Amino acid sequence: MDRYAVIGNPIAHSKSPRIHAAFARQTGQTLEYSTLLAPLEGFVTAVENFRSAGGRGLNVTVPFKLEAFALASQRSPRAEAAGAVNTLTFRADGIHGDNTDGAGLVRDLTANLGCTLAGRRVLLLGAGGAARGALLPLLQAAPSSLTLANRSADKAVALAESFRPSANGTMLSAGGFPDLAGQQFDIVINATAASLSSEAPALPTGLYAPGALAYDMMYGKGDTAYLARARAEGVTHLADGLGMLVEQAAESFLLWRGVRPNTGPVLADLRRELSAA
Ligand code: NDP
Repeated sequence: MDRYAVIGNPIAHSKSPRIHAAFARQTGQTLEYSTLLAPLEGFVTAVENFRSAGGRGLNVTVPFKLEAFALASQRSPRAEAAGAVNTLTFRADGIHGDNTDGAGLVRDLTANLGCTLAGRRVLLLGAGGAARGALLPLLQAAPSSLTLANRSADKAVALAESFRPSANGTMLSAGGFPDLAGQQFDIVINATAASLSSEAPALPTGLYAPGALAYDMMYGKGDTAYLARARAEGVTHLADGLGMLVEQAAESFLLWRGVRPNTGPVLADLRRELSAA
């Protein structure tokens, strides 16, 4: 039986085993997918033990994505751009590291939410790991502009500068939240950690163009503080990050198994469960 797992600390809450089990059932693949709790100082040992016991690959979550990046002997261009790895594949010639978070976001936006990114004005809030992972896939989708805004403006500016070579035709700019006043966007993505503490980024009002999407990478029951504020501003197209979670898992499944699962039913099941919780 091919063995996979998601490694993190904490990890008991992870929905990945359920998502991958559903993908495996649906695609007729025989595999086992579990959770792996690694001690905070014991990531590399835990990975090596899993690999020695015949493990084929690992998803990596908080707080180990940077250590996974360092451990990988080969890395995909999107992992290099993200500076973090969320998918490890054990091969005969080494450990391959990839990052499927940004691709999962873009797929959720386009395939699940019906957004066109090409030619649109995109605002990305935050300059942490999630924002960094999203930047290359977002730029590759060719929005007309991509604005990066962060509470600490200098971090957004530095991050945008490091992605300037990948901007191609997209107008790439960065700054603090107050710099956004007077601008409008078609897609606004909250990649800050504010929602984790039930806060919303301190944004100026009036940022949403008519028909704009407000997206929060965080997911859970009901609106986050960010989504509640967007709703109060009259935004009707809102989404949380549950679709991104399922789509990044599907990207990892594709890497490992060579088959892309149908994410729709899996996302619908998880959504039903979250609403009922
Ligand atoms: P980080 O800790 O790396 O993000 C920190 C960022 O959040 C910084 O830009 C920080 O700003 C900003 N921030 C924190 N608190 C606030 C606040 N109160 N107001 C404004 N900005 C704030 O976290 P990650 O990047 O790893 O995760 C960000 C979010 O994305 C989380 O909610 C996480 O759950 C979600 N996520 C979802 C995924 C999915 O599959 N759906 C996958 C990965 C992440 P500053 O620099 O000024 O401190």
